[in-house]
Amino acid sequence: MAADVTLTGLSASELAQRLRDREVSALEVAEAHLERIAAHDGVEAGGDEWVARDADALGERDVHAYLHVTAAAAREHAADVDRRRAAGEELAPLAGVPVAIKDVLTTRGVPTTCGSRMLEGWVPPYDATVTERLRAGDLVALGKTNMDEFAMGSSTENSAYGPTRNPWDLGRVPGGSSGGSAAAVAGRLAPLSIGTDTGGSIRQPAALTGIVGAKPTYGTVSRYGLVAFASSLDQAGPFARTVEDAARLHALIAGHDPRDSTSVRETAPDVLGPLREGVEGLRIGVVRELAGEGYEPGVERAFADVLERYERLGAEIVEVSLPHADYALAAYYLIAPSEASSNLARFDGVRYGLRVDAATAEEMNAATREAGFGPEVKRRIMIGTHALSSGYYDAYYLQASKVRTLIARDFAAAFEQADVLISPTSPSVSFRLGELVDDPLAMYLNDVATVPGSLAGIPALSLPAGTAPAPDDPDAALPVGLQVMAPLLRDELMYRAAWALEQDLGPLAAPTGPSALEVA
Ligand code: GLN
Repeated sequence: MAADVTLTGLSASELAQRLRDREVSALEVAEAHLERIAAHDGVEAGGDEWVARDADALGERDVHAYLHVTAAAAREHAADVDRRRAAGEELAPLAGVPVAIKDVLTTRGVPTTCGSRMLEGWVPPYDATVTERLRAGDLVALGKTNMDEFAMGSSTENSAYGPTRNPWDLGRVPGGSSGGSAAAVAGRLAPLSIGTDTGGSIRQPAALTGIVGAKPTYGTVSRYGLVAFASSLDQAGPFARTVEDAARLHALIAGHDPRDSTSVRETAPDVLGPLREGVEGLRIGVVRELAGEGYEPGVERAFADVLERYERLGAEIVEVSLPHADYALAAYYLIAPSEASSNLARFDGVRYGLRVDAATAEEMNAATREAGFGPEVKRRIMIGTHALSSGYYDAYYLQASKVRTLIARDFAAAFEQADVLISPTSPSVSFRLGELVDDPLAMYLNDVATVPGSLAGIPALSLPAGTAPAPDDPDAALPVGLQVMAPLLRDELMYRAAWALEQDLGPLAAPTGPSALEVA
């Protein structure tokens, strides 16, 4: 199967090139990925639709990136792309390249669970705009990926269907909440995938799995069909193994959509045009508050190395301050749960998914929510309901909203001194499965560097920036992510800065070692 191994190891751009040159067919590319999923992901393969095994039937080497694999539909779409190419039709740039979709985006006719028992068996009657755009670009959808329930979490352990494992070390977490999408790309189970980021759910898993993940400017990618967690923060974005691939996927999914009332009217920034312009003369701001205490020494060393590289590449390094960044985490963990408590009110046993019957409507509603939601979702609903309740609204939700405005102003001021801002994406490398599940506050601290940008709505990405040991394993070499943030609607700047660093760092490291998933 040497040919298949090579195919799953190629980047999306390389695959697209070979497809264009007719060196390989879209069907062969899809087949190679399906074979690898069947071998490593813990799905019941065979038949048209493959489903993930139950959590207790998964093996310790099963990645469990996918909840649902649409094998027959993928083959059919791939064969159709091949037919149209053979007929001389002009195809989209990524036509025939496979993609995986986080299970929080609706897919017509394909189950969408949001990682929750509440939506088990729910089959949406419509496609999200992102799903439609992928289809319009002829990306071949392989299936739906695992996630923390309703996107709440930083490890994918809050999925009702069992955790996803990190391809770098199958005993560790891939981050979250888009852990399935990140592990799929890192583990060569898809060259591209879609995640969503509310407080860091694309950037942090990208960092922990050694790939690229980007949160576009809020409002530039449609939220139509994205099951809402915190509507003022949620944004879908790309995962890929190279900066260029991520930019290509970003370009495909961004754009105005009249079906999303928060969709910006401006044309989405051209993220591909300036990609290779380099960083000479670019002012790169190091955020003083997003370093130091709480960041692992290995992460800090990798960050220091990045600074040297950028300087050598001709960038001007400036120190900037976000004076209110220290309050970002507290503000986020009031605003996001408040919006969640309101958004999740729709899961009442009447309209969607699960219903637990009871004598009265009220009891049915309570029993359904008791059985359908997991502990983290319940925690958020309670925090959010409290923060919005009369008597506490001013002290919590309103206060947090004011802090959010201050943080947005901090960023605006910092972007007068610097073109882009950088920080480590996450204070730590990947931690062990089970290590933080019983300590919600420690879990929330994963988001300390990502939530400030979320509150401000600015674009931000994470790219691999070397490896570091783990506190519990000094011999480990686990991925470290660099976060690059750019001003509102200047998404191209973060890609440009990331691309230059990626070229300097050289080819992406791949998982190796006895606890890693074998990759080509
Ligand atoms: N980890 C954060 C949370 O639990 C962010 C989640 C996200 O971005 N969806 O809220």
